[in-house]
Amino acid sequence: MAGRNFLFVPGPTNVPDRVLRAMHRAMEDHRSSDFPALAGPLLQDLKKVFRTSSGQAFIFPATGTGGWEAALTNTLSPGDCVLAARYGQFSHLWIDLAQRVGLRVDVLDAEWGEGAPLERIEEALTADKAHEIKGVLVVHNETATGVTSDIAGVRRVMDRAKHPALLYVDGVSSIGSLDFRMDDWGVDLAVTGSQKGLMLPAGLGIVCAGPKALARREQAKCARVFFDFGDMMKANATGYFPYTPSIPLLYGLRESLALLFEEGLDNVYARHHRLAEGVRAAIKAWGLELCARQPKWHSDTVSAIMVPPGINGADVIDIAYRRYDLALGAGLARMAGKLFRIGHLGDLNDLMLLGAIAGAEMAMRDVGMKVTPGSGVAAASEHYRTTARRLPERDTGVRAPDAQPAAPAAVAAGAAR
Ligand SMILES: *Cc1c(COP(=O)(O)O)cnc(C)c1O
Repeated sequence: MAGRNFLFVPGPTNVPDRVLRAMHRAMEDHRSSDFPALAGPLLQDLKKVFRTSSGQAFIFPATGTGGWEAALTNTLSPGDCVLAARYGQFSHLWIDLAQRVGLRVDVLDAEWGEGAPLERIEEALTADKAHEIKGVLVVHNETATGVTSDIAGVRRVMDRAKHPALLYVDGVSSIGSLDFRMDDWGVDLAVTGSQKGLMLPAGLGIVCAGPKALARREQAKCARVFFDFGDMMKANATGYFPYTPSIPLLYGLRESLALLFEEGLDNVYARHHRLAEGVRAAIKAWGLELCARQPKWHSDTVSAIMVPPGINGADVIDIAYRRYDLALGAGLARMAGKLFRIGHLGDLNDLMLLGAIAGAEMAMRDVGMKVTPGSGVAAASEHYRTTARRLPERDTGVRAPDAQPAAPAAVAAGAAR
């Protein structure tokens, strides 16, 4: 098919041309004396995306799932108890991984569509007088349901319960796109991957560990080899890795971090919020509901859109893909068929997203959903039009009267036209 495939799954996300070009290079010796000039600054710069100065960043050739495993196995021992909230497929998979590496998991189940249950976390921690619970696991942005949880709130209830457990946060679909503050929120271990907010192909599992987490390393007895922080720290200290790193991904990461810093992280977060508000305006105009049950949980990186009974969300996705070259996210596990997702994170702007909204609208009509043609596009485009951050306008020579220098005749004539 001619033209671009519109990639609107919530990961992998679109890779900016600048990042693609940065990755297109010959392989090089990762033991050379030049290599530390790449690896050293990268590990430092990465910390800025986590907003930590006291933490230490780790880059594994893996994915977010590897990051989950690294965070747990480097800080815990088999039989240790962790408290984990489950409200979607990703929180479910992290719990499953924790159990399979030998941890005992106290699961707090919440409705899929809700966020981390702060009160129940506080109750569980307050009741744990013996401090059996060694860690609290929270998924910041549950990608399966489009729900963002209040991580500062989790830290607040942990402090109120005066509980020493470490705070483990999955930030795979939030870090680099949503406000994330490792130091301010007292996050001890934060996990991400390369293929979401960092706008790279999959292939890096990234973890940031705070001082309290690093101090647990010696006592932590979970088996780990590939993901051992100790081996990584020893090699990273001299600017190297303990095994062969993915050279293109490291160059790509350097470029994607440069893009994020050039835009400014706060502007990146604001852009994601504004884009997401447009998508939510479209959903409202379609007469549909988000999976997220309350506005406080609305995710600015992914919207999970419920389809009415009798409609299979998977059909919407398949038609969007086959007829319109648009990739939408599927409903996962118990949400299969009940919803479809629009990923709106990474390298995106207004008109790209309007294309996805138009395609979703067409596919929904094709499967028989009663959405008014153009309704979502109209609502979103009006949101984008009225909130656009404009480039400085072309200088037409028009000045406020008191600021007016003696205008050359030609410019004055132009302004009068
Ligand atoms: C994508 C994702 C993951 C990790 O998935 P990988 O495929 O292993 O990179 C974990 N958690 C969340 C919230 C995600 O969105």
